[in-house]
Amino acid sequence: MRCPFCNSFEDQVIDSRPMDQASVIRRRRECLECHKRYTTYERLEEMSLMVVKSDQRREPFNRQKVREGIIRACEKRPISSDAVEKIVNEVEYELQDYVMEVPSRIIGEKVLKKLWDLDLIAYIRFASVYQQFDDIDRFMDELKKLKKVAMKNGKNSLQEVMAGRKEVKSEKNT
Ligand SMILES: [Zn+2]
Repeated sequence: MRCPFCNSFEDQVIDSRPMDQASVIRRRRECLECHKRYTTYERLEEMSLMVVKSDQRREPFNRQKVREGIIRACEKRPISSDAVEKIVNEVEYELQDYVMEVPSRIIGEKVLKKLWDLDLIAYIRFASVYQQFDDIDRFMDELKKLKKVAMKNGKNSLQEVMAGRKEVKSEKNT
């Protein structure tokens, strides 16, 4: 493994343990050159899932892409890399219910559900990208509606909140 700090290939594993569903092994490594520490994750390469985008284009599921979206949403928030990795792992695990194809919307909603429990700001940021709000007014509008529904239902009932968002959307379309 190449050290992300000094690019040396000399390292040693100082800790190795399975995560969550145990299909992932987390390894803590120390660079023998600069002695900085970093983490790698080893997992089974088993998914050949196609993601169906809203315009019906298809692309292979890419966990790196999911991770990058979450990292962007979590920027400058008190959220550890482990927490981000945990979300990616959980989402990927849940996608095992899907055979061959999964709508990108489903992945977005799964990530949102987990961000909701983790950090509201990250949730809002992710929602804003994922929903692709074209202007800030519409986004603020969505936020207000979301807040109203969330207050009515209690913070943790995201399913109901999401249902509320869908209602809001379908009203707009008619
Ligand atoms: Zn190094």
